[in-house]
Amino acid sequence: MNPVRTCVGCRQRGNRSDLIRIANFQGNLSVDSEKKMPGRGSWLHKKTKCLETAVERKAFVRSFRGKVNEEQVTDLFKQIEQAEMMLEI
Ligand SMILES: [Zn+2]
Repeated sequence: MNPVRTCVGCRQRGNRSDLIRIANFQGNLSVDSEKKMPGRGSWLHKKTKCLETAVERKAFVRSFRGKVNEEQVTDLFKQIEQAEMMLEI
C-alpha cells in the first residue's frame, strides 16, 4: 500500500516515496526528510523542474494558504539545492 500524493509543481500524482515533503511548521518551511513533521505539508517530485514550476506558480504560497511569503520559498529553494535532493532536471 503506497499512498499517492500530488506534486505542487507539475500537479501530477506520484507515490509518496517518490516525492519530498515540504512542511510548514510554525511558520517555517522546511524539507521534511522523514515525512513525519507536524503541520501542513506540500509534496514535490525530486525534480528541479517541478521545484521551479512550483516557485513560478507560487504554488507553495497557495498550498500553505498564504501563510508563507516569497522569501521563505526562496530559502526553501536554497535548502533543497544545498541538500542535493533533486534527482532529475
Ligand atoms: Zn512534479
